[in-house]
Amino acid sequence: MEYYTQQKLSKHIYRIIDITGVCCYLVIGEEKACLIDTCNGIGNIRDYVSTITKLPVFVILTHGHLDHIGGAALYDKIYMNHADLPIFQEHGKMSSRMDNNTTLVPFPIAEKDLTPTYTGKIQNIADGELFDLGKITIKMILVKGHTPGIMCPLIQEERAIIFGDACGVGVMLFDEFSSCVSEYKNSLLKLREFEKDYDCIYRNHGTFSSPKELLSNVIECCELILAGTDDHQPVSIHGFDLFAAKALDKHGRVDGKQGNIMYSLEKVK
Ligand SMILES: [Zn+2]
Ligand SMILES: [Zn+2]
Repeated sequence: MEYYTQQKLSKHIYRIIDITGVCCYLVIGEEKACLIDTCNGIGNIRDYVSTITKLPVFVILTHGHLDHIGGAALYDKIYMNHADLPIFQEHGKMSSRMDNNTTLVPFPIAEKDLTPTYTGKIQNIADGELFDLGKITIKMILVKGHTPGIMCPLIQEERAIIFGDACGVGVMLFDEFSSCVSEYKNSLLKLREFEKDYDCIYRNHGTFSSPKELLSNVIECCELILAGTDDHQPVSIHGFDLFAAKALDKHGRVDGKQGNIMYSLEKVK
């Protein structure tokens, strides 16, 4: 069975989509390649990546959630901001990964179908750290909010940024690890300082890309929530009773714009 498909976004960037519909990104320089996130870990993503590049590959994890860390154990050089280590421990549990994947794939899966969780050393990524792949440079920007250590990789020469789960069409702010709305807003204001450095925004879920106004739309959502003037539409996600900042129907925001926040009341501060 084919577990992965690919889309070539440029000479240096590939999107790799797993069978559950989540994607990760392969960035290829002249000397090495970087796999940014690793999907859910179904099948063998390393074998798949080796059909695209023969260069040495290392892994950057944007954050510790299970749909991003799944295939990491197939590699021996892995980087992630250490603020996400507690999440990595929690989400890496095989029981959590099995529960999640069972609901996402249309066939029965067993533990042997999943890459084991990575248990080796994870190297920290500092805010602003650069990774040189040879003529292609990735700058890592900390955007604390969805998780405490989540980072957006800016692929400088390609003028592309991977927002991932850090800023998107339904940013989740509700669990014990996520920020309150005002702290998240400050992260987004910092991210906005890099707006002149990119033309494309890539994400890991849904439509996988967004127009540039996504960022200002999500900043506006923060402002509306803090002012108590957002749409405050009740939504149930993963069994949690949350609120959407902007009213939704099954197609997305009712007003047709992109960018939204799903939050719990204790994050409103
Ligand atoms: Zn996430
Ligand atoms: Zn995700």
